[in-house]
Amino acid sequence: MNVLPETLGRKLKLFQAADPLKHWWSVGEMRFCAKCEHLFTGHDIRITLDADEQVHFHCPTLKCDGQWEDWQYPNLHL
Ligand SMILES: [Zn+2]
Repeated sequence: MNVLPETLGRKLKLFQAADPLKHWWSVGEMRFCAKCEHLFTGHDIRITLDADEQVHFHCPTLKCDGQWEDWQYPNLHL
């Protein structure tokens, strides 16, 4: 599994293209993962490429399989 070379602008574009539910204005935005109940920012989301060059996004929490639908705006939880 390759780790994608990242720049902030590129990461933001990837988020905007991949997140079916929310708009990303900045990778510094916070999200709350409903699966592991952790707060993180876009910087923390791990991006990988599989053998078919498909991009995958991963919750920063180890072994959490949270995805876009689990990542909510944090103001609901403050
Ligand atoms: Zn999670």
